[in-house]
Amino acid sequence: MTTERRGEILLDAIYDEVDHRLNPNSDECWNCGGDGYTYDCIDGCCEDAESGCELCSRPCPECRIYAAERAKAVREEVIKSGNTDIAIAWLKEIGRWHDGLSRQMVQAELEKAAALAEKGESA
Ligand SMILES: [Zn+2]
Ligand SMILES: [Zn+2]
Repeated sequence: MTTERRGEILLDAIYDEVDHRLNPNSDECWNCGGDGYTYDCIDGCCEDAESGCELCSRPCPECRIYAAERAKAVREEVIKSGNTDIAIAWLKEIGRWHDGLSRQMVQAELEKAAALAEKGESA
């Protein structure tokens, strides 16, 4: 198995664990039912007020809060792991990876972030 593939698998496990921690019953969002969007359709004005039309769709604020919490928790787990393969897979996942980065740079960033996190916890 390539180290790249290994990092992806381990990262998947982190996502699963974070999802399980934040949402143990895999509940759909109470606000949008898992759509990720809410609609402010008006009967008679909109083509399909029942199921919502495209013009009235708004990103669900509850889902955005959850996504932010999830992203933060995943970041913490990646730092805690101290694993460069996971960190690289994660950077790719969130679109922050580029060819100018090297394993050494990622490793250094990981250590820096872990040191900062430790300071924050003991303070
Ligand atoms: Zn509408
Ligand atoms: Zn929602």
